[in-house]
Amino acid sequence: MNVYDSELLRNMLEESGFMSVNSLEDADIVIVNTCAVRQKPEERGIRYAKEAKRRGKKVIIMGCVAQKRKEKLLDVADAVVGTREFHRIVDILKEWKFGVLYTDFGSLTSYFLWRRKNVSFSEFVTIQIGCDNFCSYCIVPYTRGREVSRPVDDIISELTYLESRGVKEVTLLGQNVNSFFYDGIDFADFLKVIDKKVEIPRIYFTTSHPRDISLKVIRTVKNSKHIMPWFHLPLQAGSTKVLMDMGRGYTKEEYIEIAGKIREIIPEATITTDIMVGFPTETEADFEETLDVVKKVKFDHAYMFIYSPRYPSKSAIVYKNNIPEEVKGRRLRCLIEEVNIYIKERRELMLGKEYEILIEGPSKKSRDYSKGKTQGNLTCIVPGIFEPGTFLRVKIKEIIGLTPVGEPLQVISYPISF
Ligand code: SAH
Ligand code: SF4
Repeated sequence: MNVYDSELLRNMLEESGFMSVNSLEDADIVIVNTCAVRQKPEERGIRYAKEAKRRGKKVIIMGCVAQKRKEKLLDVADAVVGTREFHRIVDILKEWKFGVLYTDFGSLTSYFLWRRKNVSFSEFVTIQIGCDNFCSYCIVPYTRGREVSRPVDDIISELTYLESRGVKEVTLLGQNVNSFFYDGIDFADFLKVIDKKVEIPRIYFTTSHPRDISLKVIRTVKNSKHIMPWFHLPLQAGSTKVLMDMGRGYTKEEYIEIAGKIREIIPEATITTDIMVGFPTETEADFEETLDVVKKVKFDHAYMFIYSPRYPSKSAIVYKNNIPEEVKGRRLRCLIEEVNIYIKERRELMLGKEYEILIEGPSKKSRDYSKGKTQGNLTCIVPGIFEPGTFLRVKIKEIIGLTPVGEPLQVISYPISF
C-alpha cells in the first residue's frame, strides 16, 4: 500500500514539475512514507527523517507513523501528512508552506489521483482503504482509518487505463479484500466484473482474511481467465485460544478447512501466509499448534514476525509483553525451519512441470540468470537475460535452496505489448 501511495504521489509531483532522484544526497526535499505495523519499521522511518533533516533537507513525513504521532513529528519534519491526505503534499510544495499537519480521515481524494504517467509492467491498485477488524495486536485501523471500498467504476477506470498502457500484472490491495462491498457488489462479483472487462493478463489480490473468504470467491478465481490462483491467507497463530485473544474470528480447524477447500477447488493454487510468534498469551503448547497448522497446510511461502506491542491496539494495553525475548527468538527460528521444510516439499512438486513465468529482471545472485514469477506468484530463476515484462514458458529442472530453476522453453506473447 505504501508503494502504491508513494507511486501516485511521485507522479503527481512530477506532473507539477518536481523531479525524483535516487539518493538522499541528490534530494532537496525528502518525503518519508512510513510504516507503523511493528516498532522496528516505525523507528527506521523516523531515523531516516532525522538523518535527512541533519543533512539540511526539507523533510515531509507521510504514512502510518505520521498518522499515529501527528504534531509530535513536527519536531523532526517540516510537514506531517497522514494516510488519506497525501495529495496535500503537492500544495505544500507548490506554495512552499511548511510547519503544517494534515491528518484527517474524511477524504478519499488521494485515491482519485490515479492517472499516472509512469507505469511499469507490474502495478498495484488499491481497492479498499482502512480496516474495521481491530485485531487486538494491530495498529492499522488506527492509522488507516475505517474501511472504505473504492467505487467500482473508479477502479475499473484505473485498471482499463493500466491495460491501455500495456501493464502485464496488477495486484489489487486491501487489508481485507474479501469484505469489499460497493453498491450491492461483493468481492466475488467485483472479481467477475473485472475478469470480463479488463484484459490485463494477470490480476492478483491481497490480503484475504480467513474469516471472510468465501467459497464464492474461490470458485470465481477457479473460473476466471485473469484472476491468478494465489491466496495470501494470514494465519497469525495456530491455537484457537490465541486466535480468539487476537480477535481474528476463526478457529484453527476453520483455517485448515478453508485452506483445504482452496487446494481442493484449485489444485494448482498457492497459499502464502503471515504468522506471528510471541503474542502475550501464547504458551509453548499454543506455539506447537502453530507448527501443527504449518505441517497440515504446507504453505508455499510465509512472512514470519515476532509480536510487537503497538499502542493503542488492545493487546498492547491489556497484556504485559512478558514472553522473554530469547523465547520469542527461539520460536521464530523454529517456525522458520518448519515452514521451510514444507516450502521445499512444495517446490519439489514443481520438478519436471511447465509453468508460465513473468520476468521481473535479473536475478540478484547471478547476472546470467533472470528471475520471474509463476502464475501462483512463486519466484523462479532461468538462465539467460530476458526483458522485464516478458512471459516465458519454462520447465523446472532443479530446486536450489528453495528456488526453482527453470529451463526457458518459449516466449509467450499476449495481444497487448508493453
Ligand atoms: N490485513 C492483513 C494484515 C496487515 S499487517 C491481515 O489481516 O492479515 C501485515 C502483517 O503484519 C500481519 O498479517 C501480521 O502478521 C503482522 N503484524 C501486524 N501487527 C503486528 C504486531 N503488532 N506485531 C507483529 N506483527 C504484526
Ligand atoms: Fe490489522 Fe486485522 Fe485489519 Fe489485518 S484485518 S489490518 S491484521 S486489524
